[in-house]
Amino acid sequence: MTTQTGANRLKTDPSILNSEAEPERPPLSTRVLARRVDEVPRSGIRRFFDIMATMTDVISLGVGEPDFDTPEQVIEAGRHSLAARRTHYASNYGTIELRRALAHHLERLYDVRYDPTEEILITIGASEALDVACRATLDPGDEVILHEPSYVSYRPCVIFAGGVPVGVNTSIDDDFALDPAKLEAAITPRTKALLLNYPCNPTGAVLPHDVQDEIARIAVRHDLLVYSDEIYDRLVYGGYEMRSMAALPGMRRRTVLMGGFSKAYAMTGWRIGYICAPSEILEGILKIHQYVIMSAPTVAQDAALEALKSSESDVRWMLSHYDRRRQLLVEGFNRIGLRTSEPKGAFYVFPEITSTGLTSDEFAEQLLRQESVAVVPGSAFGQAGEGHVRCCYATSEAELREALVRIERFVKRRGGDV
Ligand code: PLP
Repeated sequence: MTTQTGANRLKTDPSILNSEAEPERPPLSTRVLARRVDEVPRSGIRRFFDIMATMTDVISLGVGEPDFDTPEQVIEAGRHSLAARRTHYASNYGTIELRRALAHHLERLYDVRYDPTEEILITIGASEALDVACRATLDPGDEVILHEPSYVSYRPCVIFAGGVPVGVNTSIDDDFALDPAKLEAAITPRTKALLLNYPCNPTGAVLPHDVQDEIARIAVRHDLLVYSDEIYDRLVYGGYEMRSMAALPGMRRRTVLMGGFSKAYAMTGWRIGYICAPSEILEGILKIHQYVIMSAPTVAQDAALEALKSSESDVRWMLSHYDRRRQLLVEGFNRIGLRTSEPKGAFYVFPEITSTGLTSDEFAEQLLRQESVAVVPGSAFGQAGEGHVRCCYATSEAELREALVRIERFVKRRGGDV
């Protein structure tokens, strides 16, 4: 017979469990949460929003969303949708009108053709697109190569799906473009997929066409699946011509193209995104979406349809503002002595802050507390982001000018290279 002692007895003797003295145990999170969830750290961005919430008069270059409101006719389409009592579930795939319009839009812009009846899925933002795409395609232990610094959700999404993220560093010296040789060196027999995000959050980088071609050739040579998050496709500057990854030779059949309405159409709160992929792949992705989400909100899909139909001039108008602000920040940061490469996409600049002697976390926290300017530490986007901070310029020019004044004062106090 065995006698119960120590931890075993604590677990099973209710009188001891209910007594005042709490037995020593691992923290609740470790006991309750799945290991893959417990192991993912909290987003590095959230801490700064918590600090910001306690402050007033903060200029925020932190949040990655347009300062513009959704174009008026798109809001009107939403109102109209509700007035017409379109308050029911849509098809799991999304409304056929939106899928048809999207197919037409992608063909017109990038010469990629998707069948709206079985190759396009409307999702709850690009966020859901990324999640369901990973979960539908990754088996435990599958490696996914991603360029870093990268969007905060990529590593967690791959891990939640059972995959293993493998980072390939990019740097300011290469304008944050993924180096094909480094990519190829990171491929192993376990590599299943490549996750690309150009134009890139947080760096604003785009891929030079010759580099993009080479990456496509590598994907074909190694038979990789490519998740291409092109949510910033419409936000490109300085004459850069956006090409969809799916349009390159050999790529359509291996690409899961993801995008959304949040950025270009200033529709973050409507939560509409999409996935385009060959039907055999999309079928699998649809299974998860169908059981977990059912369908994206009908009213938001109706608004997104209007965005595609009538908002080209709004997109161009917002783009011209972003472009001016982009130039203002690139020039401003370089003048202050914080080296910044010229981002050709998205709405972020990613200046180097090593001359201040601070880590990116220290820089962001001290700048926020001392000068009430919120930026995001580069380390939030992976170790390759250390030594930089991300500044979103989707805010008014007046605020950006004031932010530069405050940042310059902060850097001068630090005795940086001014
Ligand atoms: N992908 C990237 C690279 C992003 O920067 C974001 C949002 O910041 C998303 C996806 C999520 O976008 P959505 O609002 O469509 O979910």
